[in-house]
Amino acid sequence: MTDDPYRRALDAAHGHAMRWLETLPERPIRPALDVDGVLARLDPDLPESGRDPADVIDELADAAEPGLIAMGSPRFYGFVIGGAYPSAMAADWLVSAWDQNTGSRQPTPATAAFEETAGRWLLDLLHLPADSGLGFATGATSANLACLVAARDAVIRRDGGDPASGLSASRPVRFLAGGAVHISAVLAGRMAGLGAPETVGSDDQGRIDVAGLRCALAAGEGPAVVSLQAGDVHSGAFDDFTAAIDVAHEAGAWVHVDGAFGLWACAVPRLQGLVAGIERADSWATDAHKTLNVPYDCGLAIVRDAAAMTAALGPQAAYLPDAGGVADPWDRVVEMSRRGRGVPVWAVLRELGRSGVVDLVDRLARSAAELAEGFAAIDGVEILNDVVFTQVCLATADDAATEALGEWLRDEGTVWASSSRWQGRAVVRFSVSNHATSANDVERTIDAVHRGAAAIGIRS
Ligand SMILES: *Cc1c(COP(=O)(O)O)cnc(C)c1O
Repeated sequence: MTDDPYRRALDAAHGHAMRWLETLPERPIRPALDVDGVLARLDPDLPESGRDPADVIDELADAAEPGLIAMGSPRFYGFVIGGAYPSAMAADWLVSAWDQNTGSRQPTPATAAFEETAGRWLLDLLHLPADSGLGFATGATSANLACLVAARDAVIRRDGGDPASGLSASRPVRFLAGGAVHISAVLAGRMAGLGAPETVGSDDQGRIDVAGLRCALAAGEGPAVVSLQAGDVHSGAFDDFTAAIDVAHEAGAWVHVDGAFGLWACAVPRLQGLVAGIERADSWATDAHKTLNVPYDCGLAIVRDAAAMTAALGPQAAYLPDAGGVADPWDRVVEMSRRGRGVPVWAVLRELGRSGVVDLVDRLARSAAELAEGFAAIDGVEILNDVVFTQVCLATADDAATEALGEWLRDEGTVWASSSRWQGRAVVRFSVSNHATSANDVERTIDAVHRGAAAIGIRS
């Protein structure tokens, strides 16, 4: 069957994938070409005739290669980007080959069962209520959306309204968040019809001002949703969940937590102080494609009241199978049709076990602390945030020099870190999120910053 077109196309893809993965740790992280450079390699006109599938894969891989960024490199620290564990990547290939539309459990028993098992394992691992509803979303933004839609409908119903009648038929739903709320939660709130959040203050690390939250809640009335944050993208800081959830619940509000990367601290005994009380929230959103290191795209929407989630998100129609009192995968996300994206999550949890996940998250946070310590020892470099988790924000006395350092690093290619502004200053952000980042990578990263600072002439 060597001329089976699937075998030839998949064999070609396998070869290209292995060549990519084998060069990943040592290739310059930056792409050699920009978008226009890659476009120049592609025929702008739709071909009139077709091509052999394996040749298509060769053409694709050859044209793409110079425009690929080594995002899976152990020294990629930009944005918040995980790599992919071997079992998760391979499971993802199988998910494509199986091509199971895992919206409804009845026609796709295997992928539904693996997802349900992964969901149970995740709630156990994260110490969240075992009977919560858990949906496999495309990322934290769609997970935030699924949770906020469930929240919106639940608080409207509690207020005596009918969510199906639309927002104009109920009292306005208030949406509150801290001043450092992530743009993803803002977008999700807008998509859910809640508008951008009314922001209460936050402290210098981005933690919500709980007294401000109390005042804001007391100053208004009606149904309310409060969005808290586990893991600020600049500082890595966590809100004071115990205090903020007390205040929000006293006011009758639903508490949602955006924990895109920070929720994983729940798994680590050493980091429990960061997340104390978080399990008392009403919903939680996180990513698996960041800290858990599964391939894109995979996020988790978790709602304590599983029935509220199904009521808000579950489809019903004569042609759709009824799971008979059990929730379907599509009852917990905003998509109906979707790939079995929970299967790679099962695979990585099986590869690592509980102890492996605890070690992974603990190691990411320890590497961030080591980076911060190494950076701080460089003349003229300072660390702006309290490094409590995986994020490090570096600055120099001169914003232009800090920006130049970020550019120098990305251009030199050993490491890739994002430039941003925080606390009114230019910063270079390092987010340690890749499972493969080793002690040697930490050393090489500190060395690269050293060399960059010297090249730019940064001194105190
Ligand atoms: C990355 C991130 C998001 C958005 O996640 P996506 O998976 O990109 O949708 C939301 N909140 C925080 C804190 C994040 O770091």
